[in-house]
Amino acid sequence: MSFLDDVVNTGKNVVSTAGTKGKDAVNFSKFKLRVSQLRSDIKVKYAKLGEIAYGAVKSGEKNDEEFDKLVAEIDAAYAEITDIQKQVDELRNVVACPSCGAKTSKENFYCPKCGTKLPEKEKPAEEEKPEE
Ligand SMILES: [Zn+2]
Repeated sequence: MSFLDDVVNTGKNVVSTAGTKGKDAVNFSKFKLRVSQLRSDIKVKYAKLGEIAYGAVKSGEKNDEEFDKLVAEIDAAYAEITDIQKQVDELRNVVACPSCGAKTSKENFYCPKCGTKLPEKEKPAEEEKPEE
């Protein structure tokens, strides 16, 4: 009986630990999946843009509306990818170097790859405190 209890309890512990650790992993893979979806979306849209451009040259008829719509959709997809990457950086506690793009710890003052000074740490609580 007690042996069974132990097994059940140990099992619960393992599950709860895995659950906590898995949470971030699930987030990351969710982000990864979304980014790869967006990237393949962008590829498809580029192909469509090419088709439209090709068709326009061949037929002499422009399809600007469809073209502009696709360009806007591609821009939106890129913006979402940038946004997701920022969220992932936030979760990993890293920042991208403004010069070379290398990911480095938020704690660093200089990029370990190229030596560029990283942006000042944001301290909105201190800086934006209204004077009384
Ligand atoms: Zn750098």
